[in-house]
Amino acid sequence: MPSIGFDPCPVYGRATFDKCDTCPSRCRPLPLMKTWENGLRIKPPLSKDSVNRISTTESLDPLQKIWYSRINESWISPSLGLWALDGTAMHAIAEKGAEGLDQSVFVTEKKFETEIIPGYILTGMSDLMERDRGTLWDYKKKTFLGAIELREAEKNKLPWDATDESVQLNIYRIYNFPEAKSLKNYIIVRDWNARIGRETGLEKELIFNAPLASEAEVRLWVKTRFLKIKNMVDTGVVPECTRGDIMKYKEKKIDGVTLPSRCRFYCDASTLCPQFARMKANAGAT
Ligand code: SF4
Repeated sequence: MPSIGFDPCPVYGRATFDKCDTCPSRCRPLPLMKTWENGLRIKPPLSKDSVNRISTTESLDPLQKIWYSRINESWISPSLGLWALDGTAMHAIAEKGAEGLDQSVFVTEKKFETEIIPGYILTGMSDLMERDRGTLWDYKKKTFLGAIELREAEKNKLPWDATDESVQLNIYRIYNFPEAKSLKNYIIVRDWNARIGRETGLEKELIFNAPLASEAEVRLWVKTRFLKIKNMVDTGVVPECTRGDIMKYKEKKIDGVTLPSRCRFYCDASTLCPQFARMKANAGAT
């Protein structure tokens, strides 16, 4: 199992998942903890000797994050589960809403999987295909900074591979709905408030229209990515994250210690990552 428990835990410091069942404190509702546990522990370690299944969203992650979130005995912050729960709730609500519609027109949660190179399978699931309009949708919750980044990418006509969202949608199109004519993210801005609205012109929701890539471009992108992952698995050499990877969510000063938010809050590899350990030591974090 790649992930064996929660860290930090307010009672034990670190708690294997089974400890939550009998915990005297029960810091959060147990059914929610179980949902996170099930969602967070599903990835087996990558191996030269077995078939590796990599989701589309995982393939977009930095290689180091992929590696350390897959190796044995990693620990996961419950706050990561919180964001996962938030996203899952949004998808569940949208799926329910589609129940009364013609399922042959409004195709929800359609999965795909395909072998990219021997031993490496790409998986994915599209949120919604509106067959009558040819529109492929993906639902997202984002911070206002992330939403602004996407708004600017569209305004400045950045290429399809400039944002993860656009790459993800293009992969879904090529491998799941090649007939799609337009690609859209429906985004809820999770930290929106009136001041942000006034200062940025951002609404609580945003629709991002992703540019369409050619089939050859998308297939090449995916193959190149998978070859890099395979090389990491075969050699055991794990490339460190770049500044671009790390600074995606800016830095934050908490209790006098400034660290990248991506590593601190949004990376399920952070408890094992040597690069983050070094950053913490340099910043004087305990
Ligand atoms: S903790 Fe930071 S440096 Fe380490 S894998 Fe995650 S994003 Fe990269």
